[in-house]
Amino acid sequence: MDAALRGTVALVTGASSGIGAATAEALADRGAAVALVARRAERLDELSGRLRDAGATALVIAADMTDETQVREAVERTVNELGRLDTLVNNAGLMILGRAADAGTDEWRRMTDINLTGLMNTTHAALPHLIAAAADGDRRVADIVNVSSVAGRLAVATAAGYCATKYGVVAFSEALRQETAAQHVRVSVVEPGAVDTELREHNSPEVQEQLTRLFGSIERLEARDVADTIGYIVSRPRHVAVSELLVRPTEQV
Ligand code: NDP
Repeated sequence: MDAALRGTVALVTGASSGIGAATAEALADRGAAVALVARRAERLDELSGRLRDAGATALVIAADMTDETQVREAVERTVNELGRLDTLVNNAGLMILGRAADAGTDEWRRMTDINLTGLMNTTHAALPHLIAAAADGDRRVADIVNVSSVAGRLAVATAAGYCATKYGVVAFSEALRQETAAQHVRVSVVEPGAVDTELREHNSPEVQEQLTRLFGSIERLEARDVADTIGYIVSRPRHVAVSELLVRPTEQV
């Protein structure tokens, strides 16, 4: 365990699998107490058990982050039970691919609700606590890390709805960064390429086959590769803001 984040508290959304679970581990490994947020409580319990066995502090919060009341409760529980909030990782997300003409508009709404509106609402609920943390404590800086995607930088056919949500995350992050810079609340956006997680499993078998054809022959990123990137961002000294990082598998074109 390195001590860069000792005495800090992090809230990670989508901590029940993939990048979120690995990020919670990476932040705990750097000394942060972590609030683990997602809907699948049993997955969160499993992870918190592992973190506690390793000597970390973990709080499980089962919540649907598309529900604004649950979002606010998750943030308030974190601050009440862990004492403060220094780091928010907005990672929870959903990707359903397909041509726009064939998409159910319900799929677009579900992606927007979690990828964009959920992220914005979580940020809104957390901001006063992050500003307070940056004004108080040894580090005098706080962080919001928003997980977008390569799909938030390059739009591609069959991903119109998903790209729209992830471009939205990039725009929201940059505008917010300008607003909170003077208060030392850093806002960063991370844009992963193909990562080996459960994300693709919400798609039809046909789309999953297409993804296998596209990415099956390359060595994809592991969730912990993205978690390392997030750990790097939030452990920079107070005067260093890594505002944006695009991280691809080496072979991804
Ligand atoms: P996973 O499917 O493994 O993780 C998604 C996480 O989001 C789960 O923990 C899920 O938890 C959570 N989540 C989804 N909906 C909700 C909700 N309504 N409320 C609370 N939590 C929710 O995929 P990844 O780890 O890959 O995805 C994490 C992020 O990374 C996403 O934003 C994704 O878009 C992004 N990303 C992923 C890439 C990849 O190739 N895998 C590439 C680029 C970006 P639960 O179901 O328990 O609620």
